[in-house]
Amino acid sequence: MQLDLSPELSRFRDEVRAFLHENLTTELRRGQRLTTAMYPEPEISAPWQALLWKKGWLVPLWPREWGGTGWTAIERFLFETECALAGAPLVHPMGTRLVGPVILRYGTEDQKREHLPRILSGADYWCQGFSEPGAGSDLASLRTRAEADGDDYVVNGAKLWTTHAHHANRMFALVRTSTEGRRQAGISFLLINLAAPGISVRPIPTIGGDHDVNAVFFDNVRVPRVNRIGAENEGWACAKYLLEFERGAGIFSPRLRSQLKRVGDVVNALRIRSASRGPGHAGRTEVASETSLRVLLDSRFGEVCADLDAFEMLELKTLSRLAPGEKPGSVSSILKLRASRLKQTIGELGVEMLGTDGLRWRAPGESSRMLLSSEEEEIALRDSLLPEFLNSRAFTIFGGASEVQLGLIAKDVLRLYFSC
Ligand SMILES: Cc1cc2nc3c(=O)[nH]c(=O)nc-3n(C[C@H](O)[C@H](O)[C@H](O)COP(=O)(O)OP(=O)(O)OC[C@H]3O[C@@H](n4cnc5c(N)ncnc54)[C@H](O)[C@@H]3O)c2cc1C
Repeated sequence: MQLDLSPELSRFRDEVRAFLHENLTTELRRGQRLTTAMYPEPEISAPWQALLWKKGWLVPLWPREWGGTGWTAIERFLFETECALAGAPLVHPMGTRLVGPVILRYGTEDQKREHLPRILSGADYWCQGFSEPGAGSDLASLRTRAEADGDDYVVNGAKLWTTHAHHANRMFALVRTSTEGRRQAGISFLLINLAAPGISVRPIPTIGGDHDVNAVFFDNVRVPRVNRIGAENEGWACAKYLLEFERGAGIFSPRLRSQLKRVGDVVNALRIRSASRGPGHAGRTEVASETSLRVLLDSRFGEVCADLDAFEMLELKTLSRLAPGEKPGSVSSILKLRASRLKQTIGELGVEMLGTDGLRWRAPGESSRMLLSSEEEEIALRDSLLPEFLNSRAFTIFGGASEVQLGLIAKDVLRLYFSC
C-alpha cells in the first residue's frame, strides 16, 4: 500500500531507512526472520535495543527528558513499518513498553533514577508476573501473598505463563497485600529481583517447541518494601495503566505485513526451485502446486492481502487521530482482536501453501548463526512456518483473550448492555 506522505514525513522515513541500512546486520535480520516464538532471544533483541538507544529511538512513548522522541502516532507507524519491512528484531517490550511507563507515572524520583536508566541500557531484563493458576482473564482473583515484615515483604505463591522469566533478572508482579474489601483493593505492584533466595523458574513447553513461557514459584522471598510502586493495596491502578500499554500502544500491521511477505517469499522460492528441477524431480511441494489447489491458495493469499490492507487503514485512521502520547482507548480491543486473528490466518495460509512441506519441523532453539548458505537459510525459513503458526494460537489468548475483547467491544464501543 502506498501512502502520500508530506515532505517532512518523507524525510523522516528516509532517515529511518538510512539508519536501518547502516545498522541492521545480516545476523540480526536473520535472527528475527527465523524467530518462531513471540519474541526473539536476548542475543538478537539486546544488540538491536542498544543501537536504538544510542540513536535515541528506543522509547518513543516516554517523555523527552527520559529519552522519548516526541514522535506523532504517524511517525511511530512509519518507524515501525520500516523496521518490520527491513526485518529488524523486536525489542523485548517488558521494560521499555510495560514497566517503564508505570514507573514514570507512579514511581518515586528515587525509583525512576534507580530503574529507568537500567531499562534503557538493557542492564535489567524484565518479565511480567501477573497471571497465576486461576487468575488470567480474571486477574483480580490472584493469590500470591506479600506479607509485611519489617522493611520487607515476604512473598509466597506462583506466577504462570511468565514470558522469558528464564532470561530475566527482574519481575514486575501483582501481589495480594490484603484480603479485605473488593478483590482489586488488596493488590500491590512489586518490583522483584529474581536473584533473591526462594525463587525458582520452571519452563512450560509450548506447542511450537520453543521455550518462551515459564512457571515462577516464590517460597518466602524477601522483597524490600521500597520496591513497591505506588501505595500499598493500590497496585490495581498501576496494573490497569500497564494493560493500556500492553493492549493499546502496539502497532500491529507492519509486523503482519512482514509475516505475509515472509510466507510469500518462502512459497515463491520453493516454487522456483521445484520448477527448475523439472517434472521428473519435483519435490513434495508439488502436491501443493497442482494447478487447481494453487489457484485456490493464490486467491486466498489475495483475500488475506485485502484484509491486511483494510486492517492497516483502520490502524492508520485510529492513529492519525491521536495526539502525541495519547492512546486509542476502547478501539484498541478491535485492533487487538483483528490483529491476532490475522496473525493466525497468515500463519495457517503459509502452512497450507507449503502442502506436505508445511509439516516439516525446525528443531526449537536451533541457532540461526549455524546457517551458512542462502539455501540453508531458505530451508530454515520454510521449516519455521509451522512452529510460528502453532505459536500464533497464543495471540488470541494473551493480552486479553478474544472473547474478553468481544465483551469489551460490546460494552465500550457498541454500548450494548446486558442484564441477566
Ligand atoms: C504464550 C503466552 C504468554 C504469556 N505471557 C504472560 C506473561 O509474560 N505474563 C503474564 O502475567 N501472563 C502471561 N500470559 C497469560 C495470559 O495473560 C493469560 O493466559 C490470559 O490472560 C488468559 O488467562 P487464562 O490462561 O487463565 O485463561 P482464562 O482466563 O481461564 O480464559 C480461558 C478462556 O475462557 C474464556 N473467558 C474467560 N473470561 C471470559 C469473559 N469475561 N468473557 C468471555 N469469555 C471468557 C475465553 O475463551 C478464554 O480464552 C501468557 C499467555 C500465553 C498463552
